[in-house]
Amino acid sequence: MSTETKPEAKPEEKLFFHSMKEQDIFSKLQTNATGLTSKEAAKRLEEHGPNKLEEGKRKTLLQIFIAQFGDLMIWILMAAAVISAVVGEPVDAAIIGIVVVLNSILGTVQESKAEAALDALKQMAAPIAKVLRDGSITKVDASQIVVGDVVVFEAGDSIPADIRLIQCASLKVEESALTGESVPVEKQLIIIDDTKAALGDRVNMSYMGTAATYGRGTGIVIATGMNTEMGSIARQLASTEKETTPLQKQLNGISNILSIGVLIIATVIFGIGMLSGREPFEMFLTAISLAVAAIPEGLVAVVTIVLAMGMSRMAGNGAIIRRLPAVETLGSTQVICSDKTGTLTQNRMTVQKAYSQNEATLFEAMRYCNDSKLDANNKAVGDPTETALIDYLIKDKKYTVDEIKNSPRDGEIPFDSERKLSSVALKNSGGFRIYVKGAPDVLLARCIKELSGDKVVELGKARQDEIVLENENMAKLALRVLAFGFKDVTALTPNDVVGTESGLTFCGLIGMIDPARPEAKDAIAVCRKAGILPVMITGDHKITAVAIANDLGILDDGREAINGAELQEMTDEELSNRVEKIGVYARVSPEHKTRIVAAWQKKHKIVAMTGDGVNDAPALKASDIGVGMGITGTDVSKGASDVVLTDDNFATIVKAVAEGRRIFDNIHKTVRFLLSSNAGEVIAILFATLMGWKFLLPIHILWINLVTDTFPALALGVEPPEKGAMARKPRDSRLPFFTKSEWIQVLVTGTMEAALAIFAYLLGGQGMLGTTMAFLVLSLSQLFAAVALQSERTSIFKNKAKDHPMLWLAFFGSTMLQLSVVLIPPLRDIFKLAQLDLASWVEVIGLCFVMLIFVEVQKLFAKKEA
Ligand code: ATP
Repeated sequence: MSTETKPEAKPEEKLFFHSMKEQDIFSKLQTNATGLTSKEAAKRLEEHGPNKLEEGKRKTLLQIFIAQFGDLMIWILMAAAVISAVVGEPVDAAIIGIVVVLNSILGTVQESKAEAALDALKQMAAPIAKVLRDGSITKVDASQIVVGDVVVFEAGDSIPADIRLIQCASLKVEESALTGESVPVEKQLIIIDDTKAALGDRVNMSYMGTAATYGRGTGIVIATGMNTEMGSIARQLASTEKETTPLQKQLNGISNILSIGVLIIATVIFGIGMLSGREPFEMFLTAISLAVAAIPEGLVAVVTIVLAMGMSRMAGNGAIIRRLPAVETLGSTQVICSDKTGTLTQNRMTVQKAYSQNEATLFEAMRYCNDSKLDANNKAVGDPTETALIDYLIKDKKYTVDEIKNSPRDGEIPFDSERKLSSVALKNSGGFRIYVKGAPDVLLARCIKELSGDKVVELGKARQDEIVLENENMAKLALRVLAFGFKDVTALTPNDVVGTESGLTFCGLIGMIDPARPEAKDAIAVCRKAGILPVMITGDHKITAVAIANDLGILDDGREAINGAELQEMTDEELSNRVEKIGVYARVSPEHKTRIVAAWQKKHKIVAMTGDGVNDAPALKASDIGVGMGITGTDVSKGASDVVLTDDNFATIVKAVAEGRRIFDNIHKTVRFLLSSNAGEVIAILFATLMGWKFLLPIHILWINLVTDTFPALALGVEPPEKGAMARKPRDSRLPFFTKSEWIQVLVTGTMEAALAIFAYLLGGQGMLGTTMAFLVLSLSQLFAAVALQSERTSIFKNKAKDHPMLWLAFFGSTMLQLSVVLIPPLRDIFKLAQLDLASWVEVIGLCFVMLIFVEVQKLFAKKEA
């Protein structure tokens, strides 16, 4: 394949940024440590184009249209049109031609609409990066980054372009996408003399498509878009494969088997016709028309469009689907494992209680051991646990805004949810003071002394118990508790985390409230009704977790709460046996989430799992539906998710599940309608041919197919959710799309339609009138069946027409189309139909109502069976 490339930056001498001095890079790229101005960035963007990898070329509308002619049936049909014209049947030829073109136009519209919906979603999921512009940190779409920009990032962020690092704090980057090495690389600010060093060894560089898993860093962008290392790989494998969902695959299979069946039947019909001495060309056209009408080639297209439209609707409700199969799986979700903080709660922390015997030191620890920044309005921004501390210090006038702004540090070990601690070091006269904060149980275990007034005293067992009790009392009030400690050292030992964070002096506890989301409580109740088990997973203390779980009603069913430590003790077998009885997991580390997912999957349950941190990625991938957080989630976790919530809200997951059920129901109805209609046509024609009747003409069959297969099928695909869709148990995802009894229902409905059409033919006296009546009954009974299928469970007499506008519109529209052929004289002549008298009309309409009643009775039986 030849790639047309834009005139690239002139082939300058190759620069080895990893071997260059920082200052040389700045002057080479005409930038500096404070980044570019937005004016300069805009200019460079204009000159060099966006920071994007080129994707496979999009198909144009014309190409999509032409692709519709890749179908064998279309060619047979066109051949039939040509033969018709040659043997002197120009009307037939014209009608077949119109059918071909209309079919292709409808196919094109459907496909391009589905593509547009998918594109819009991709746009929504576009990554954001932080760059220095005009001297301050600005969030921009990653595609807007230019060479010379200074980007800042931290654990969980993906690296937006190729960069040379100019600052890093304990930075580790996972580069497997580029180097195949899955262990994160520790980055360093050294200059690498070997210009030919392998990518993996260039520890002062980071590349597009990799992600920071630990610490933080700053770097100068040295290449963007297709000029990055990723870009050169992308150039080599520039093909984008479309993903097929399990349902699409299943339907493809069904579609293929039925196509073969229909072809066999069409051949049989042709054979019988020939044997009984019918006109060969007419029999040939009949067989082909039937094959065209009955081959369910539209199934997969309808499913795709219903899925795509469902995705747009979900996005409108705050759930962005990243992988198409998730749309289907969502509806059968049986367990939702959710993080507490931010998903079930508001992630708005407010300090409520402080406990200390030397508040001045506690406040100092809160001030320095803190990553939040003050914005232009002097409001703290950052992790809510940390901003709560700063807000408290400022509000209670412990420190001025300027003091807070000026809180330098000389070293740090960032927070991670595995350790549950974070530390900073400050220079003082004797060396360094290290402040540590973290989960009380973890921190207390690392304290040997405590501050009592101005004195440092031994931390005895009795005092430890007192502090633990105080922690529990706060936790019972649903407070998240942080403990603080410090120690003074003469020198820092950079790579010794355990050593740095031990032998501490305890200086106090802080309790903060993070109220439950009001809508989460209702969503939990909806889950219960829908047979979905909600499970809370949190890094917080068990008592805090239980207090909030009780508030939300998660433990109303008598399930228990366990600690990560208890989980650690259990074997996988034990966990799997108990998993159904556990509603809350407290003090867990991200790695425990993977075990919880596995335990449920061993029970053959479909599990959704939320996650936001870097370490959550494995669990998100392992679960059936990984749910990422749009606001607080890291790029890494979002990348591992199937669904991303724009509002981080538990209630949104439940809404998406409801939407998933609706989509599945609608696809089911649509397919059931299409298959039973096709069965009706095949059975009627087969029977009539066996009887040797001159029944329907080929153009009649094509017309019926056009009228009934399109609008009603699409309308069924956009039906509103069924009443009670969230009051039934999740569908067992191991069941096939159609169960045996559902196949029987499809056949029975088809047989009934055929029987009614044949009955109409007999009533009309087997001549032109009979054909006209059969023509009407065969198509209208399908339309009546479509209306009845607005629910596969409840009677349509219990539904209101205004709740199903599209279906009724399709019904009336298609009915008008069908009637116009019989009522408008020139059309009637073209279609070789007879005029009906009142009595015949009454008979036709009566037979169609029989169909409606029939489907309603079928529902009653199906309900009894269920
Ligand atoms: P959830 O899983 O419900 O979202 P969480 O993941 O927020 O909860 P973590 O962030 O892992 O839980 O926090 C676990 C514990 O670590 C908290 O209970 C708290 O005691 C402590 N902790 C949280 N944030 C910090 C922080 N920034 N610095 C130090 N300790 C923290």
